Amino acid sequence: MTDTKKKKIHWGPAWGEAKDLIWRHRKRLSIGLGLMLISRSAGFVLPYSSKIFMDEIIPNKNMELLQQLVMIVGITTVIQAITTYALSQIMSVAAQRAIMDMRKSVQQHITRLPTSFFDETKSGVLISRIMTDPEGIRNLVGTGLTQMIGGILTASVAFAYLLYLNWTMTLIILFVLAVFGGGMAYAFNRLRPIFRKRGEINADVTGRLNESLGGVRVVKAYTAEKREDILFAEGVHKLFRNVASSITGVSAITAFSTVIIGGIGILVMTLGGNAVMQEPGTSGYMTLGDLISYLLFTGLVVAPLVNMANIGTQITDAFAGLDRIREIKQTPTEGQQQEGMESLGQLNGDISFENVTFEYDEGVPVLKNISFEAKAGTTTALVGSSGSGKSTLIGLVMAFHYPKSGRILIDGRDLTNIPLKDYRSHLGVVMQDNFLFEGTIADNIRYSKPHATIEEIRRVGLVSHVAEFVDQFEDGYDTIVGERGVKLSGGQRQRVAIARAILANPDILILDEATASLDSESEAKIQDGLETLREGRTSFIIAHRLSTIQSADQILVVEHGEIVERGSHTELLELDGRYKQLYDKQYKFEMNRFINPGEEIAIPEA
Ligand code: ADP
Ligand code: MG
Repeated sequence: MTDTKKKKIHWGPAWGEAKDLIWRHRKRLSIGLGLMLISRSAGFVLPYSSKIFMDEIIPNKNMELLQQLVMIVGITTVIQAITTYALSQIMSVAAQRAIMDMRKSVQQHITRLPTSFFDETKSGVLISRIMTDPEGIRNLVGTGLTQMIGGILTASVAFAYLLYLNWTMTLIILFVLAVFGGGMAYAFNRLRPIFRKRGEINADVTGRLNESLGGVRVVKAYTAEKREDILFAEGVHKLFRNVASSITGVSAITAFSTVIIGGIGILVMTLGGNAVMQEPGTSGYMTLGDLISYLLFTGLVVAPLVNMANIGTQITDAFAGLDRIREIKQTPTEGQQQEGMESLGQLNGDISFENVTFEYDEGVPVLKNISFEAKAGTTTALVGSSGSGKSTLIGLVMAFHYPKSGRILIDGRDLTNIPLKDYRSHLGVVMQDNFLFEGTIADNIRYSKPHATIEEIRRVGLVSHVAEFVDQFEDGYDTIVGERGVKLSGGQRQRVAIARAILANPDILILDEATASLDSESEAKIQDGLETLREGRTSFIIAHRLSTIQSADQILVVEHGEIVERGSHTELLELDGRYKQLYDKQYKFEMNRFINPGEEIAIPEA
């Protein structure tokens, strides 16, 4: 069953999106269509006038009629030129607007997807969904579709006229054209998956490129340039093979159309020549003028059909892009999963876990049967080995994930029934690797409160000890931090993140190894700031240095996804269990450092 569902997502044409798009742009599209009709009707004048030219003007030496005809042809040519120009102007602008709209809507959807989605999908892939795939719709809303419709209309009218001129010849030609059409349909069915695949390959290659450029220091440190070269080369070769195979397809179509056009030429010459040479008055007789306009009108039937081969490719491309976009859009966003939920209003900050179990991957439990209560305004510390599930537990508090079983209650209300937007606005978080955005230090602090004044920023900068290093920079708070904050040290980034969290003034504060990148001295300094910050807020702290958590109201010791001990610092020391063990180990280490102060070695993991 999942198989058929998958298939549908992969191959089903994105009619819904296409219809939506066309409907939204119906005004421009109908103006375009109107212009197209004028332009195409004007296009009939020249081929038709050649009949009058051959049959009326030349034999009768009718100069007056010639003048009139020249006038009419001149005027219609101008009309055609103007409408064609206006058409592509109006339609191309419309198409670019549609591309912009589509990019916006895909971006909005993607940023609102659940965090688990981002664990599974490469960012390069997502960037390509947002930036590249919408380009295809240019051909749907742009000149592509109107040209196709215009082509069909022109071809039909011209075809009717051909039938009127010589129906037997026309039916034979129709048969040839039908063969051509069948060939085309077949070819496009073959090409569509190739185009689809191209988008995927492109996304893969850009994604990896993005990573290897972002991680250029790691690449260089391990002299992995060659390996990255090979990975990239493989990617672009794949892309090349894909493009090459579609070029083969497209050129086969072109060759096929050439043959068809030639074949029709031969048919018209034989059958048409025969008709002209008949006695006038017999059935099937054509004048020379008839034959010439027949030839020109055949062009009007065939040219749009051949053109459609081109447009068909483009529209195929457009659909492939829309297909991929639709796939993303079918993934419900966090908001969509929560429509109709009652909003949160005031938050008190009582958090409790009731038998919470969680797993990232089916059958690999990461948290098992976690129950605890964090009363509003209290601090809960989590300690335990690395990989024991502390960050995961906190991820559940932040509603990045939901429990597999059990409940998380916020002020007694199940978190699964609370609108995330409401809830998250009460959170403040500092993590081990804090993400800074390209921009100034002030911008990065202000990220949690976009309209904060510089005075507010300075105030939180003092508490978080950002001020200390900012003062050493020439540009102060206006110092540019570089992409992902590369121009700051880990400890400096962490202090900026702390300042950001303080500025947010959150009801629930989460510090996940928030001071891990700081040396003990800076940490001690920031400690006061953080303790003040914790007052009156429900706080969660994960810290390897046990000195930072001694004042917590409760300490939960997590091992292998379970709470193995709980209590206050003194209670846990008395218990003489895992916590005591960790404490002793660290105590010895700190003592050692005290004795040999020169040695700044990494702090062992708690
Ligand atoms: P801690 O913060 O205590 O060091 P984590 O909560 O980060 O531990 O990780 C707990 C376990 O969950 C680890 O075994 C880790 O490999 C796994 N894990 C963490 N994040 C993910 C993820 N996004 N997908 C799959 N497994 C994960
Ligand atoms: Mg962690």
